[in-house]
Amino acid sequence: MPSHVAMNIAVKTLPDTEITCTHCEACCCRLEVMLITETGVPERFIETDQWGSRSMARLDDGWCAALNRSTLLCMIYDNRPLICREFEMGQDECITEREANRNP
Ligand code: SF4
Ligand code: SF4
Repeated sequence: MPSHVAMNIAVKTLPDTEITCTHCEACCCRLEVMLITETGVPERFIETDQWGSRSMARLDDGWCAALNRSTLLCMIYDNRPLICREFEMGQDECITEREANRNP
C-alpha cells in the first residue's frame, strides 16, 4: 500500500523585474547607432552610407558588429559612440527595446 508523503512546496520567489544590462540580451545594441562625434571607434566597425553618414555596422544577426556575441558586452566600451554613452539603462528607450525584443 503506497504511503502518502506530505511534501513541502517551495514558495517560489517572483521573477526579478529589475531592469539591468546583466539580465538583458543587449537589446539596445540592435539599434542603428550613428556616429556624430569622434570617439575612436575602429574603422572596421563603421559603415558609411551613400551620403557619407557614418554609423556602427551591424551583422546579419542584427547586433552591432562591436558586440561580443559570447559575453554580450561591448568590445569597444572605452571608445563607444556618444549615442551609446547617452543611452540610459532603465529609461523609456531601454524599456521599449527590451519589450520589442522579448521572446513570445
Ligand atoms: S541599456 Fe537597457 S536595453 Fe541596453 S543592454 Fe542595458 S538593459 Fe538592455
Ligand atoms: S558600440 Fe558597443 S554599446 Fe554601442 S551598440 Fe555597439 S556594442 Fe552596443
